Amino acid sequence: MESETCPVCGGDRRISNAFGGSSATCPACHGSGRRTASEGFHDVTKTKPSHYRTANEPQAAKKRPDWPESFAFIQLAKEVRASESCEEETKDKLIREIVDYERTHAQMTKTFSRIVRKQLRPAPAETK
Ligand SMILES: [Zn+2]
Repeated sequence: MESETCPVCGGDRRISNAFGGSSATCPACHGSGRRTASEGFHDVTKTKPSHYRTANEPQAAKKRPDWPESFAFIQLAKEVRASESCEEETKDKLIREIVDYERTHAQMTKTFSRIVRKQLRPAPAETK
């Protein structure tokens, strides 16, 4: 595997010292004789912060729920989205419920819209 051979020492792991005549460990591959493909493994002075960055990447978990198709359900879903007292998580959950309800019942009912709207209101605050 010529491509993996250290280009500085040619895989000898050592380079001749032009002044003393003795050989020294190759500074490029640190004596491994291989091209530094696994960069950072031999060279501990290099930090690779990019390695740790992935933890904060937004995952696909934040996927938006589906959206209803018929007018009454869309209106209700819009109400949910527009709510200012509601957590995003709750909104997503409610819209999912709306979509589910639309799929299973096809018709909006007052009972259902009441249930949804009830959950849009802020949680009963502690009376102080
Ligand atoms: Zn080398």
